[in-house]
Amino acid sequence: MSTRITVIGGGPGGYTAAFEAARAGAEVTLIEAARMGGACLNWGCIPTKAFKASADALETSRRLKEFGIAGECEAKADMPAIVARKERITDILRGGLEKTCSRLGINIIHGRGKVINAGLVRVRTNDGQDLEAAGDSIIIATGSTHLYLPSLSIDHKRIITSDDALQLDYIPKRMLIVGGGVIGSEFAFIFRSFGSEVTIVEGLDRILPLPSVDADLSKIMLREMKKKGIKCELCQTAVRAELSSNGVSIVLGPSPFVEKIPSSAQKEKTIEAEVVLVAVGRVPVTKGLGLEAAGVGTDQKGWIKVDERCRTSVPDIYAIGDVLGPSKIMLAHVAVMEGLVAAGNCLGMDKVMSYDVVPSAIFTSPEMASVGLTEAQARQQGLNLVCIQTQFRELGKAQAMGELAGLFKLVVDKDTDRLLGAHLAGAHVSDIIAEPTLAMSMRATGKDIAKTIHAHPTLAEGLFETARLLEDLS
Ligand code: NAD
Repeated sequence: MSTRITVIGGGPGGYTAAFEAARAGAEVTLIEAARMGGACLNWGCIPTKAFKASADALETSRRLKEFGIAGECEAKADMPAIVARKERITDILRGGLEKTCSRLGINIIHGRGKVINAGLVRVRTNDGQDLEAAGDSIIIATGSTHLYLPSLSIDHKRIITSDDALQLDYIPKRMLIVGGGVIGSEFAFIFRSFGSEVTIVEGLDRILPLPSVDADLSKIMLREMKKKGIKCELCQTAVRAELSSNGVSIVLGPSPFVEKIPSSAQKEKTIEAEVVLVAVGRVPVTKGLGLEAAGVGTDQKGWIKVDERCRTSVPDIYAIGDVLGPSKIMLAHVAVMEGLVAAGNCLGMDKVMSYDVVPSAIFTSPEMASVGLTEAQARQQGLNLVCIQTQFRELGKAQAMGELAGLFKLVVDKDTDRLLGAHLAGAHVSDIIAEPTLAMSMRATGKDIAKTIHAHPTLAEGLFETARLLEDLS
């Protein structure tokens, strides 16, 4: 009899695990309460990229003269059409996933699963039936959802989440974004391009204050936001909000998360907005999963604890993806790799997850992308390092494209010449980051990059030119 695996959650982690297991001959049941594809496909990565493509098209239309294109262009964002395009794209991709499930013989149940023990999941289906999925092992891939702030209660109209922002059928005149992290920054550029006046409120002292984002990238981000007219209120939080007929009054106050508050952020101030988007982080989706009764251990914040084989505290129950929390890196491509590891282990293999080389990309304008240690992290580890950088504007291709903002920064171990980190800002760096990611996973040196012929004229040449500076130093 083949191995029977129950996967709870149909996001990138869950469906990858299900596909992998089914391809290897397992009998797979996939339980999904909402839409196949999870947050990534339905409310995250893909829909925001569809919005960004519309925003970029609009930005290009505003620069036609610069490219020698004559004539008037009165392009503006048509929100219902932009939302409809986004829906078409996600429908196509979701249809593809559903077809793959059916081709691989995966049994999909639309409902909410509750773990009883490693061999049994009870499901309340979306149409009210109670079913049981029995098997040999379970993979929990239920993901994360929005963290709410007590001072800002979401009404989905005036005070909204990023899911709501992806359904807006009008362009808010003034948008206040609480949280200058990944979601906040991506939406700031998109809605600024669509025509909103945008202000970001960030509790910490820099934009994109994530450990994986190098301080130099945060500086570029702040500069580019200013150039585009996006206002940033750093070291502040939203203290309270008052709804009115045509918007929200938000009182900002000094942040409790920062010790040294600059004088400009010390006094309370009120900002009026038509819409407030709250993007202050995520919490695990584990309510009703029965984790405690089943003995599946979580940390203090409720994220599921696993070992390097994605095993929870209960034998034959695995967990992957966002539900593991920030200590394991909450990114779709990490969930995919964890899905492959968990599925392999359910099938009796011995697969280990490594978080040593994880690229990340932020789809702002310009884009930001990173892999490996930031300069600050490498210094904290006491490494003897050299940091080198070149500017995006030095590239012929960047000049031809009219995309000048950005940089290439490499963090290299001075003793061994090994590449420790790469931090890129500029057009298409979300694609270019694949090169230093491969270099790092193959333990390449900075000089290996400098010895590799890069096609000309391309943006990837920036890595070559930056790595070549290492030769001047040796
Ligand atoms: P985040 O952690 O990136 O950013 C939240 C920000 O809110 C932080 O900068 C934090 O300092 C700030 N903050 C927290 N409380 C605050 C308060 N009271 N007042 C003001 N600021 C406050 O979280 P996010 O932007 O919500 O993103 C959620 C998840 O989605 C992340 O795990 C992220 O990796 C993922 N995501 C990834 C991508 C991508 O890879 N391109 C895009 C979008 C989202």
